[in-house]
Amino acid sequence: MSYLLTCPNCGKREVTDFAYGGEVVPRPKAKPSERELNTYNYFRRNVAGVQREWWNHRSGCRAWFLAERDTTTNEVKWVGLPADRGSRDGEAGATAHGAQGPGAQGIGGAGSGGITA
Ligand SMILES: [Zn+2]
Repeated sequence: MSYLLTCPNCGKREVTDFAYGGEVVPRPKAKPSERELNTYNYFRRNVAGVQREWWNHRSGCRAWFLAERDTTTNEVKWVGLPADRGSRDGEAGATAHGAQGPGAQGIGGAGSGGITA
């Protein structure tokens, strides 16, 4: 199903302009246990409802940004750059690390398949 997504830099575009980066998950502490690391890498909440996600404007400005999307209707409730996230919620553990987008720290790119130019 196609829908419109609003890039914080470029405005409304078809969702096919973007790459999905997965749901936002809090990063583990500096030296995580194997269980914490596995949970971070592999477990997702996969909610039926509004969830916060990473998106990349791969066919535009190539910026990583956040969106809150209702997964049952694809209605996008909010979009913002990572710098905006602090004002959006008081999520403990939300740090500047997130500003690099998902997969910026090693293993990764979950959900980034097909991005290669
Ligand atoms: Zn853009």
